[in-house]
Amino acid sequence: MPAIPPGRAPATRGERFTVLDPATGEAFDEAPDQRPDELDAVVERAREAWIGWRADPPARSKALLAAADAVEAAGSDLAPLLTREQGKPLAESYAEIARAAARLRYFAALDPGTEKITDGRPVRTEVRWRSLGPVAAIVPWNFPLQLASAKFAPALAAGNTMVLKPSPFTPLATRMLGSVISAALPENVLTIVTGREPLGARLASHSGIRHVTFTGSIPTGRAVAEGAAASLARVTLELGGNDAAILLDDVDVEGVAERLFWAAFRNCGQVCMAVKRVYAPARLYSQVVEALAERARTVVVGAGLEPGSQLGPLSNAPQLARVEDCTAQALADGARAVVGGHRLERPGYFYAPTVLADVPSASRVVTQEQFGPVLPVLPYESLDEAVTAANSTGFGLGGSVWGTDLDRAEAVADRLECGTAWINHHAELSLAQPFAGIKESGVGVAGGPWGLYGNLRPFVVHRPEEA
Ligand code: NAD
Repeated sequence: MPAIPPGRAPATRGERFTVLDPATGEAFDEAPDQRPDELDAVVERAREAWIGWRADPPARSKALLAAADAVEAAGSDLAPLLTREQGKPLAESYAEIARAAARLRYFAALDPGTEKITDGRPVRTEVRWRSLGPVAAIVPWNFPLQLASAKFAPALAAGNTMVLKPSPFTPLATRMLGSVISAALPENVLTIVTGREPLGARLASHSGIRHVTFTGSIPTGRAVAEGAAASLARVTLELGGNDAAILLDDVDVEGVAERLFWAAFRNCGQVCMAVKRVYAPARLYSQVVEALAERARTVVVGAGLEPGSQLGPLSNAPQLARVEDCTAQALADGARAVVGGHRLERPGYFYAPTVLADVPSASRVVTQEQFGPVLPVLPYESLDEAVTAANSTGFGLGGSVWGTDLDRAEAVADRLECGTAWINHHAELSLAQPFAGIKESGVGVAGGPWGLYGNLRPFVVHRPEEA
């Protein structure tokens, strides 16, 4: 395992917590367990660094491009460490790193510009964009580097500085990434803090923070918003999803099965915008169930560092327990595990890829977010029934419609209550598009220019026209 380069995080007076390898369930390293009272100094240093960082946009872009190069160059150190602590196959760790570098480059090139407002009056009104100050980012364990970059790339490009806290389940690769990036930036522009709660709660409510950008579960998102209310900091929340995929009666089941399977099972289903429920026309129900089950039977499950592994373990013990519990309840409710339905008899947090049929629609695996390799498939009689069911939860992240007639599929997609609707795909995102959940799936917008503006405030200058 590569050594962790020294970060610019403050000294920790020695307290550390252990990090487990989800492929074995055993401890393999430690990370600093920073105390909440260390945050005052960290945030103050971020505020001081902001003064220089916000002042020179061309220098900022150059530094962010250099940081992107440095991230790519560190890929062979970062990727195995990420796989070791998170569990995902090595190729997916490399993909996260590539995405982080691409995001830095994308936002480094964005210019918010200025806008002149003319309304016929003899005044000149100009809207300029200004940074906010130190931004706090709190991220989960499913895509540690990709989600960290989704926070720091737009925030830093906008001229803010950032204090970022990864999940205590996956602190190591993020610390390494922070060191790699910080070497290309002025000191204290990006600071990674690691530790257990209440570190995140204290960061979200810190009076020196002007924007809290959080990705994680809905209950924690609520707590973060409450904490940020103390200082009335801006809040961006990217929360859970329970995306439905509706298959239309003209779908080519074999033609889409592979893509649909991976839209549900990638990263062991631990994806906010994974397909978490499939609605299939009753006429095609058995065929859809079998096509997905066949892939679940043959997918290669193994440690992320084992060559050939396509699915790793779940990322941590509490998540394995949630998936086991949710599936057991579905089976008790009358669902049938066509394949899987149990954990694997091996060390670590492995759960068998599972396809559930005959699931009652009120079962928790349908109404809540399972966040694991378990996919319920539900039959429908009428399209209205399927759309109503897809829209029936409190979530509103994404959704998809699958069929051969693309115009018809798009008309159905238009009826989905969510932030992003895909046709014959799911969870494909461009860096340039907005990403925003509705209902309980989120507040605010990430991605594209919208993500940049989410880290800026309008500053308006209003003066009379020259006579
Ligand atoms: P979580 O809410 O338990 O934790 C997220 C982060 O918040 C972690 O860093 C955690 O340490 C921290 N945290 C915990 N308690 C806190 C508190 N009181 N105040 C401040 N921070 C606190 O989520 P998780 O289990 O790590 O991640 C899985 C969840 O994330 C799922 O619900 C998933 O859908 C969601 N997610 C959403 C998106 C999105 O873009 N919408 C992306 C990825 C994951």
